[in-house]
Amino acid sequence: MRVAGPVGFDLDLTLINSRPAIMAAWQEVAEELGVHIDLAEVDRRMGIKLEDEVAYWFPVAGHAAAAESYRRHYVRLAVTHTSLLPGAAEALAAVRDAGERAVVVTAKHPVSVQPSLAAVGLQPDEVVAHVHGPEKAAALVRLGAAVYVGDTPADMAAGRDSGAIPVGVPTGSFGPGELAAAGARVVLGSLTEFPAWYAGLRAGQSEEGRNG
Ligand SMILES: [Mg+2]
Repeated sequence: MRVAGPVGFDLDLTLINSRPAIMAAWQEVAEELGVHIDLAEVDRRMGIKLEDEVAYWFPVAGHAAAAESYRRHYVRLAVTHTSLLPGAAEALAAVRDAGERAVVVTAKHPVSVQPSLAAVGLQPDEVVAHVHGPEKAAALVRLGAAVYVGDTPADMAAGRDSGAIPVGVPTGSFGPGELAAAGARVVLGSLTEFPAWYAGLRAGQSEEGRNG
């Protein structure tokens, strides 16, 4: 079990509440392109790539235009519709205080990541953008990540498959039971619990080192 190494964080609904911006952007896309989009259905799939969500609502020929429309609206809306989730800044600080790097690993496109981070003043050490599912696992392997924190079952699977410790937070569309079933080693109530959990993990490792 790796304990030393970077800590990966998902972005949407793990570090930031981007739901209002995402919903408002889809509403704009629906109006601009004249297509009915069920926002509750979008919400249930939150966390996947934009290109994959677009495919539920548009024929192949319209995918590129729909994604372009979404990102144009999202980049504008993110500035005013994004908030920090409780404990997010402290969680990144706890990782840095331990001498490790805090890396955002997200399905979001880089174009949408930067205004989202700027809106809440978060500054991770690195961003790996536009990856989801097995691509997240591959990114975590590349980083040598010790821990991956996320809000979806797919995040938990990516952490597990990469050899990182999957840590769930039920601040998105999924509850503790669903995250645990998907492989979460621990499900925190929110990121406010992360610093204490992470300190315990690090202390446990040095304990093992002394005993071993
Ligand atoms: Mg997420």
